[in-house]
Amino acid sequence: MSEILVLVEQVEGEVKKVTLELLTLARSLGTPAAVWAGPGLGDAAKAKLAEYGAEKIYDAASADIVDHVVAPKAELLAQLVAEKSPAAVLVAATAEGKEVAGRLAVKTDSGVITDAVGLSEGFVADQSIFGGGVNVHSKVSKGTPIVAVRPNSTAPQAAAGAGAVEAVSVALSEAAKAARIVERVKQEKGARPELTEAAIVVSGGRGVGSAENFSVIEGLADALGAAVGASRAATDAGWYPHQFQVGQTGKTVSPQLYIAAGISGAIQHRAGMQTAKTIIAINKDPEAPIFELADYGVVGDLHQVVPQLTEEVDKRK
Ligand SMILES: Cc1cc2nc3c(=O)[nH]c(=O)nc-3n(C[C@H](O)[C@H](O)[C@H](O)COP(=O)(O)OP(=O)(O)OC[C@H]3O[C@@H](n4cnc5c(N)ncnc54)[C@H](O)[C@@H]3O)c2cc1C
Repeated sequence: MSEILVLVEQVEGEVKKVTLELLTLARSLGTPAAVWAGPGLGDAAKAKLAEYGAEKIYDAASADIVDHVVAPKAELLAQLVAEKSPAAVLVAATAEGKEVAGRLAVKTDSGVITDAVGLSEGFVADQSIFGGGVNVHSKVSKGTPIVAVRPNSTAPQAAAGAGAVEAVSVALSEAAKAARIVERVKQEKGARPELTEAAIVVSGGRGVGSAENFSVIEGLADALGAAVGASRAATDAGWYPHQFQVGQTGKTVSPQLYIAAGISGAIQHRAGMQTAKTIIAINKDPEAPIFELADYGVVGDLHQVVPQLTEEVDKRK
């Protein structure tokens, strides 16, 4: 079977969950080969990549790759595409991943698909477009298919691969080194998972009523090990920080479970969450449009429903 390159996302040497999802997806379509961009490939990362099916791990140890924003990663992948002729290249549909994908497409004269939520035989990608109003199946018709897949689109499943490490030396162009990273500031992280990566997201909207009341949403999120999201109405009101806004002008999430509490379900909100596998809506208005989208709905006051739900989840732990 042909090789499928998977660009590894990692933080301080630790492989991110989205990479395990991409390896799982790649395994269903060919032979996964992980691409480690930059130094620091340790034993734990090697073992993790092999555990999730990487037959090969291309280890490009150049420090230049991590010191120079995204262009070197695109050059590395372009070099591997030329040398290995893979069947496809998969990257995570993060801001960085999508930029790498776009640059790689130009370099290899290939087609690119971004924000895929699924990938099947023949590299046919599922996408949700026009603010989530239309689902399309797309296929790259030129060059090597380059597909940026949204985090949480596939459940990661372990299935051992050989994990054979092959060192890659990459000759970076001067252009790729034009923008250098001069400082890194560690973002203060709470205990909750990152919103776009979380398997469960609990979001609150205008129905939450105030900044203080968001503790109800946070309580359920913590009971479930989930991330907290918010509608634009809630972030615009200053009840929750803007970085947690879900929707067309906020973050796009694709978790296994999305709980929307006190959110009406405006098209702009749906655009950011409707590819969630299971959607639960809690709203006091039975006519709220969110119920058209929801798999399960509770008609009721979130201030009564959510604490009960939290209590029940806690009880069953
Ligand atoms: C260009 C543009 C971009 C936008 N981008 C985004 C975006 O990225 N994300 C986004 O979310 N919005 C976005 N919006 C705004 C969007 O149109 C809606 O205004 C917004 O999503 C509404 O937020 P909401 O559902 O929280 O509030 P509302 O629409 O006011 O809904 C509140 C809901 O809470 C329910 N409710 C009230 N009290 C309770 C209670 N006690 N218990 C249970 N339910 C209760 C009500 O029945 C109602 O359904 C955008 C708009 C535009 C024009």
